[in-house]
Amino acid sequence: MSYRILLLGAPGAGKGTQSEKLAAEYELDHVTTGDALRANADMETEYGTPRSFMEAGELVPDPVVNEIVKTALSNADGFVLDGYPRTLSQAEYLSEVTDLDAVVLLDVDDAVLLDRLTGRRVCDDCGANYHVEFQPPETPGVCDDCGGELIQREDDTKETARERLEVFVENTEPVVTHFRDAGDLIEVDGEGTPEDVFERIRDAVEA
Ligand code: AMP
Repeated sequence: MSYRILLLGAPGAGKGTQSEKLAAEYELDHVTTGDALRANADMETEYGTPRSFMEAGELVPDPVVNEIVKTALSNADGFVLDGYPRTLSQAEYLSEVTDLDAVVLLDVDDAVLLDRLTGRRVCDDCGANYHVEFQPPETPGVCDDCGGELIQREDDTKETARERLEVFVENTEPVVTHFRDAGDLIEVDGEGTPEDVFERIRDAVEA
């Protein structure tokens, strides 16, 4: 089954982790604007580079992100979309370029989000995610999968993580409300182990 799934949730809700699992389970493309922007952080646009927005925890302007999503989705049969839309105008654009089969919101308490973000470590080589406390690697600072170096994302420091959570409340909660009002939102408890959360999502998507 070639699902078109949208995963919504605050920074730190587990969208990246759960998208990887969904992509593997259903053989879907994982389309994530955050990774795409990090890979093109120094691209010159008429608004400046993506890096300048990302390092401040602010949103990259809609036209830049919309273009990335349009290209990625036009190349995908089934997909799980993560990190987009983050504004109502992005949500409108998305509805023009594709139809969705499921919209899932990962619900996680604010205090848990901040702990997850500031403790997150990412492999500099393969992108695998860890957490210093909740999901530590076997050897501190070293990726279990590929031996690469684990680093902290520049926007996962406490101050920038807080800013990102505020940006979510201001810009992206209206997107959540938009899907909820349309009756399209499946709300899933995003706390607990990644495996538990995945089972909840899988049950919801298949129902
Ligand atoms: P993420 O990895 O999804 O947490 O995204 C990291 C950063 O990339 C965000 O804090 C934004 O600066 C930027 N970004 C990612 N997706 C979007 C989007 N849909 N709209 C605007 N900015 C985005």
